[in-house]
Amino acid sequence: MLDYFRRRLGAKLLFSYLVVIATGALVLFVVGQLSVPPAFTRHMARMGMPQMGGPMMGWDGLWRGGMMDSLYKDFRATFNEALFYAIFAAVGVALLVSIFLSRQIVAPLHGLAEVSQRIAEGRYEERVQVQGEDEIAHLARRFNQMAAQLEQVEARRRRLLADVSHELRTPLTAIKGSIEGLIDGVLPATQETYQQIYAEAERLNRLVDDLQELSRVEARAYSLDMQAVEAAAVVRTVLKRLGPQFESRHIALDLDLDPNLPPLRADEDRVVQVLTNLVVNALQYTPENGRVFIVVRHAEDQILFSVRDTGIGIPAEHLPHIFDRFYRVDKSRARYGGGGSGIGLTIAKHLVEAQGGKIWAESEGEGKGSTFAFTLPIA
Ligand code: ADP
Repeated sequence: MLDYFRRRLGAKLLFSYLVVIATGALVLFVVGQLSVPPAFTRHMARMGMPQMGGPMMGWDGLWRGGMMDSLYKDFRATFNEALFYAIFAAVGVALLVSIFLSRQIVAPLHGLAEVSQRIAEGRYEERVQVQGEDEIAHLARRFNQMAAQLEQVEARRRRLLADVSHELRTPLTAIKGSIEGLIDGVLPATQETYQQIYAEAERLNRLVDDLQELSRVEARAYSLDMQAVEAAAVVRTVLKRLGPQFESRHIALDLDLDPNLPPLRADEDRVVQVLTNLVVNALQYTPENGRVFIVVRHAEDQILFSVRDTGIGIPAEHLPHIFDRFYRVDKSRARYGGGGSGIGLTIAKHLVEAQGGKIWAESEGEGKGSTFAFTLPIA
């Protein structure tokens, strides 16, 4: 019994109503009993009758005294009977109303419990019906928001899995195809064939590394060592790494670096990583004899890094998606860079935003070059 009450909010509510009703009925009864004798005496006195228990003078007094006692007894019995019916009816009606009210309060909670159960079973599209404006309605609204977020996370997870399997399948299919060709003797066992297989395996390796980095960055499972960083030092590091590639690909480099730049507040290694990514892309998507311009400028309370190239450009319809994971403008562009995974810019965006900056891309269109720029706050 006690367990039943402990487990059911409706029973608890009903019990609390019952306590209130019983208290009300008890008070009604006690006050009624206590207030009857003085009220009776007062009313009789007003009618000129002798007071109960007062001095009764002579026979007339005695007779009238006896009549008063019996009148009082009858009156009290009538009052008690009326009080009994009134309390009985009031308790009955209050009980019915209490049952109705406790059900009303508990019903939305039952709904919440049922829907949460269905969501736990993986039916993320389920929602609770919200009625009214009270705290339970507020809870239901919050619950629905949480369910919507869960649904989005689940959709993202599915898309990610589908994307990853698709990305892994491409190089795997190529490797499998080449090896089958070798086994069947369709492909010649030359250096070139082995190099092709090796390149695909390399691509797989890069993809897995990129995925690992992406998952770390998306989960923010890395620490930022925020310090005052000289923009010139960042550019120097990047150019030391990539300078030889400019030469080997016959791409000219224009550097426009303001000598009086204030230091920025950032994690130097992460800024180097982002800038390297943009410059590598510029190199990848710019044909030989092209040009790459690196500009670093002070813009209000930010430092602006921009990498412009005279390369193949990006059609306007692709620009809004360029930072999405696995997004590549055109898979045939792979020939420009050995097939990127389309993850580099996603990582760059995460890193810039984590350091309080913004990153964006501009391009006049196909064949008209691109500009990638990012800002970071000054120290
Ligand atoms: P990827 O590893 O494929 O280069 P990114 O995330 O770095 O991945 O870039 C996403 C896509 O954006 C690229 O596949 C390419 O289509 C396009 N892109 C990036 N940088 C440039 C650029 N400088 N010029 C033209 N297209 C670019």
